[in-house]
Amino acid sequence: MIEIVLIPCLSDNYAVLLHDPQSLQTLLIDAPEVSPIIDCLDEKGWRLTDILITHHHFDHVQGLPSLKSRDNACVRGPNMSKAEIGYDYGVSEGSSVQWSGRNIIVIETPGHTLDHVTYFIASEKLAFCGDTMFTLGCGRIFEGTPDMMWNSMMKIASLPSDTICYSGHEYTGSNARFAVTIDPENQSLLDLAKSVSEKRSANLPTVPTILATELKTNPYLRTDDEEIRNHLNLQNATDAEVFAEIRRRKDNFSG
Ligand code: ZN
Ligand code: FE
Repeated sequence: MIEIVLIPCLSDNYAVLLHDPQSLQTLLIDAPEVSPIIDCLDEKGWRLTDILITHHHFDHVQGLPSLKSRDNACVRGPNMSKAEIGYDYGVSEGSSVQWSGRNIIVIETPGHTLDHVTYFIASEKLAFCGDTMFTLGCGRIFEGTPDMMWNSMMKIASLPSDTICYSGHEYTGSNARFAVTIDPENQSLLDLAKSVSEKRSANLPTVPTILATELKTNPYLRTDDEEIRNHLNLQNATDAEVFAEIRRRKDNFSG
């Protein structure tokens, strides 16, 4: 059994540490901030062997130099940003990364940025979605197009429904308040939004999430839902068009 620790960093980022007590190997997903990650490694007595980066944004890579030098970890990140950030190895669609006897599959999920990748560990059904899919949300489209982001979301949606999905930020409070404006009759969503607001009031994380739950509640994955389409008055639009409209409304949503 691998041990997984979710580490809050900066104001709303998450890093994740995975540790295999058999091999003693430890893997970090994203490097938003040095001190909370080092504190966790120290407290657990773990040596950091590998680092995987989802995309080139500063709030995901800024801890790399210090974290790499601590235990000389091997750093992998998207091929597209290898020159910019300086990973040891680049990865791209279909790359498989070996970590502690496991196969980690690389899925390109551009849209938020062009280089963005999601890492999937099939043996544990773990997905590290970075800033592509959030609990009840999806990333803002900075470098790609809505179509691109839609395709990326569909790649994540096609993983096994019991996949445990980690995301790069705690944005769920706002995501839930927005989601209920798009899908107000969805009882699963209303129930989840209530529990999200309770968790956030207690400062508890809402990451990770289970893909099956997202498929029932995340509006960006429910573009074929008739009630959502009626609500948006987009009965005859393509799924990608419905997705783009939901994303556009979120960009203008404050709450
Ligand atoms: Zn980002
Ligand atoms: Fe980010």
